[in-house]
Amino acid sequence: MIVMKFGGSSVESAAAITRVAGIVKARVGRRPVVVVSAMGKTTNRLLEIAALAKQNRIDDARQKAGELKTYHMVEARQLVADASAVEAIIDRHFAELDAMIQAIALLRDFPPSLIDAVSGLGERLSSQIVALAFDKLGMPSAHVDSRDVIHTDDRHTQAAPLYPESYAKLKAVVAPLAETKVVVMGGFIGSTLQGVPTTLGRGGSDFTASIVGAGIDAEEIQIWTDVDGMLTCDPRIVPGGHLIKTISFEEAAELAYFGAKVLHPATVLPAVEKNIPVLVLNSRRPEVQGTRIVSESVPCRNIIKSIACKPNITVMKIHSLRMLMAHGFLRRIFEIFDRFETPVDMLSTSEVSVSVTIDDARHVEELRTELEKFAEVEIEPQRALVCLVGDNIRGTAGVGVRIFRALQTVNVLMVSQGSSTLNFSFVIAAEDLKQAVQNLHAEFFADPDPEVFA
Ligand code: ASP
Repeated sequence: MIVMKFGGSSVESAAAITRVAGIVKARVGRRPVVVVSAMGKTTNRLLEIAALAKQNRIDDARQKAGELKTYHMVEARQLVADASAVEAIIDRHFAELDAMIQAIALLRDFPPSLIDAVSGLGERLSSQIVALAFDKLGMPSAHVDSRDVIHTDDRHTQAAPLYPESYAKLKAVVAPLAETKVVVMGGFIGSTLQGVPTTLGRGGSDFTASIVGAGIDAEEIQIWTDVDGMLTCDPRIVPGGHLIKTISFEEAAELAYFGAKVLHPATVLPAVEKNIPVLVLNSRRPEVQGTRIVSESVPCRNIIKSIACKPNITVMKIHSLRMLMAHGFLRRIFEIFDRFETPVDMLSTSEVSVSVTIDDARHVEELRTELEKFAEVEIEPQRALVCLVGDNIRGTAGVGVRIFRALQTVNVLMVSQGSSTLNFSFVIAAEDLKQAVQNLHAEFFADPDPEVFA
């Protein structure tokens, strides 16, 4: 059995779903379980509709809901044998949305449990439409409502899976069905043990695929996207990177933490535990081999596998002479970041100074006010974080000299190395980013190992 996950752009239209069906059909002998996202930008659109309802703009919300319904109707009708069946499904779901619009408008509130009920509608719809489309295209399918088999805690909008309960259901329900039919499920959604709808967090369909794969002991999890796979550098910054054919789970997760948008790191966890390889593939170019994420890193003559970056971060420099020889400085600082729910990505310290980088600068002024009660604070916006990832950078001599040679003309503001064995990160001005990545890529990928890079 394999799990095949298709994201929103892969199922955004009748043509895209037909393409998906072709990809699945070519692999039907491997007994695929298909996990789909909502069609196109449906999740965002659902949340926009709810936001209008919260402002009591019921007519605007209903108009937008009507447009979203028409979109689903138009695409779905082209895909199925019996239009009335799919119309009934779409009608039912949009009636539910309308009830929720009314509830939100009445309450002028959009609490997290209702956010999950609204935002999960997209996957409930897309999975049923795709299942019916597969039937029409000669691939007998079975739709499974993910809320019946993916159980979570009740942290709405960011629920954590209850693994034993979910695995037991997946084994009992999905695995036997997949013996004879192509199972189709919605990603992103689940429910509490009491049956209250939840979601796994935005972008959570990859996570669903990984949970399903682990639950049914799949031989492989395929994440079908609109990119060829993971690359040696971020194509938004420097085009022309090489495709990485094989990468370890740890390296892939490290890249994801530091800005590579291809895969969410949490995605790989259930797969890692069960040693199931995860493949990243392109649904528009299925012939491309993609990136295979495996548990152990494969031998490679290049020390660096990829250069990830966050092009726009903020640095906060915190300095306090009062902290000389004192203890508890870091605790005080991080307690404040915790209070404002602001994650810190990178850190460098000296005795009385600490610099941190943050991605989410929404609370930067409140953070400054609190920190200034015991320290001087400088804020530097428009910085970029660059992260080189490769197996055992920490234990390899001579990497640092190559990095700094490549950065000769660039002013490096912060450095972090050693806490992870496979990452070397530094901060520079955002305007230097392109130059830095170009130079580093030339330094480390002049001669890419053909076993690892395409
Ligand atoms: N549809 C959900 C989202 O847009 C989940 C996903 O696509 O992975 O976040």
